[in-house]
Amino acid sequence: MYFPFEKIRPIQQELINDVTHAIDTKRHLIAHAPTGLGKTAATLGPALTVALEKGYSVFFLTPKHSQHQIAIETLQKIKQKHGIDVKATDLIGKKWMCSHGGVERLSSKEFNEFCKSLREGEKCTFYNAVFGTKNQLQGSAMDMLMGLKKKSPIHAEELFEMCKEDFCSYELASLLGKDSQVIIADYYHIFQPSVRQFFLGRLKKELKNSILIIDEGHNLPSRVRDILSAKLNNFIINRAAKEAKAFHFDDLSEALENLNNTFYNLKKSALKNSKEAFISKKDFIDELQTTTQWAYEDLYSDLESASAEIRKSAKKSFVGSVSEFLEMWTGDDAGYSRILRTKLGHSERQMIELSYNCLSPAISAGEVINESVSTILMSGTLVPGEMYRDLLGFPENRTDLKTYASPFPPENRLVLIDTNTTTKFTSRTADEFQKIARDCIDIVKSVPNNCAIFFPSYYILQAILPFMEGKTAKEVFIDSSELKKSQRAELLNQFKLAASNGNGGLLLAVQGGSMSEGIDLPGDFLKCAIVVGVPLANPDLATKSLIEFYDYKYNKGWDYGYTHPAMTRAIQAAGRCIRRPEDKGAVVFLDKRFAWGSYLKCLPPEWKPIATKLTADKIKRFFNSQ
Ligand code: SF4
Repeated sequence: MYFPFEKIRPIQQELINDVTHAIDTKRHLIAHAPTGLGKTAATLGPALTVALEKGYSVFFLTPKHSQHQIAIETLQKIKQKHGIDVKATDLIGKKWMCSHGGVERLSSKEFNEFCKSLREGEKCTFYNAVFGTKNQLQGSAMDMLMGLKKKSPIHAEELFEMCKEDFCSYELASLLGKDSQVIIADYYHIFQPSVRQFFLGRLKKELKNSILIIDEGHNLPSRVRDILSAKLNNFIINRAAKEAKAFHFDDLSEALENLNNTFYNLKKSALKNSKEAFISKKDFIDELQTTTQWAYEDLYSDLESASAEIRKSAKKSFVGSVSEFLEMWTGDDAGYSRILRTKLGHSERQMIELSYNCLSPAISAGEVINESVSTILMSGTLVPGEMYRDLLGFPENRTDLKTYASPFPPENRLVLIDTNTTTKFTSRTADEFQKIARDCIDIVKSVPNNCAIFFPSYYILQAILPFMEGKTAKEVFIDSSELKKSQRAELLNQFKLAASNGNGGLLLAVQGGSMSEGIDLPGDFLKCAIVVGVPLANPDLATKSLIEFYDYKYNKGWDYGYTHPAMTRAIQAAGRCIRRPEDKGAVVFLDKRFAWGSYLKCLPPEWKPIATKLTADKIKRFFNSQ
């Protein structure tokens, strides 16, 4: 078996055996495998071994850029240690591999349209350098490809640096992919149905000959639902109308202004005094056709053609966004909800939004999983496995659920549930917030170094903050929804630096935010994570439709549609602490509801939480016992 290291730990061996068995017998595996187990090596190693033997391809799918690096390094070590000819292609989102500047702010759909229009207009010099204008691989591109094959496995960013001045990196990576046994990519490449078809076609690969390893699998249900959902609001329509006018599509500009009226008419008839309502596919199409005097299909196809023209000179097209939504609106009803609502947009202006929401990730994921030779879904947060099996459409008779032991010494971790307070909606008073602030400060004072508090929302963070101000010697860092990506990265950097300033730092952030997932804070960077309140979704129509759908389909509406998504966010926030076996750290779930059965059963079994009202004392004793 191709494994990158000399020693295989017993828990790793267990996972390796299960992965090998799953692939050999064409079964699927849902693996709850705690942090620190070495999942990447223990899944890629056996998958590659069987793939080379049987001529399969391996797709390692991950939403995290850092995981791409780890997967590539694992393959490089395997190649070096075993002297085998393994080729791998690492693909990050196409726009991140594009040689044109200023495309980062485009959405994936917008970028794809931009790229398509440049290619089709023969205006992308980087693309032309690979294929010329007659779609034939050019000599210099062939030389570059040979060089890449020799260097493979290489990380996408390294490939980009090698190619970016002369060639389209994505096209060369795709060519490399045809000869690769392993493809490292994002979920989007495989779970967006039209992207998948195109992507696999280019790589000349088929799911029926492929092994899928899905990393951070707890993200997959919500990610697939997002991929299959769409939204449109009157602000976008207004901008599209102006854009159409500026590009002299006067008839479409007028139609878009009337589409805006469609939204107002529907608001009047469907919402009356409420903020949101379900709306049928037909009601919207009928209203649109009446108000605009356009046939529905004609409108979206003319908007699509206009957006192709607009994208010849602009990177982004609002006309294109409207056309994409109108096309998606014609999709199926089964497994989707359609909601019209008003909400406050930027500058506190009222926005009317129409959404087409996927309720069932199994629609796309089930098809993919069933077709693959074997799918391995893994994460440190796949509890309960049955839920992920149901939601993603894994076939029950071909799927094994496994929980692996944590490799971390249990004495290095303390997990407490503080039952003194709650952020339950009916208890949100100034008194309760003051009590929460006091409890948090007592805990923070008991921790020798960096601490983070994750609130259920920015609103609650701001409501509790005044009661905490000036009460800790730690340097305080506050996340906000207004921060740009670079500002947030700097905030995190400063927080890490505070670990060496004596008192340490205190980070205030939110569960489900970018500070609570996808970042690692090992060692002194985070000694204690306090998770305040259960981040339950608003009981709006989107949440209600999810609960009703899961009740109808699995008889588990509240669990699958309400409790588990919230607990996944809470657990992810808690998991920022204790990233390595040698780390010693504490996690506090601060809300009495975490001790209730329906929430408690969602916590990873290896955490063994203790419910208490004397949290600060226990934390002090834990850290003093070092
Ligand atoms: S073909 Fe390549 S370089 Fe050209 S726009 Fe598309 S991704 Fe960018």
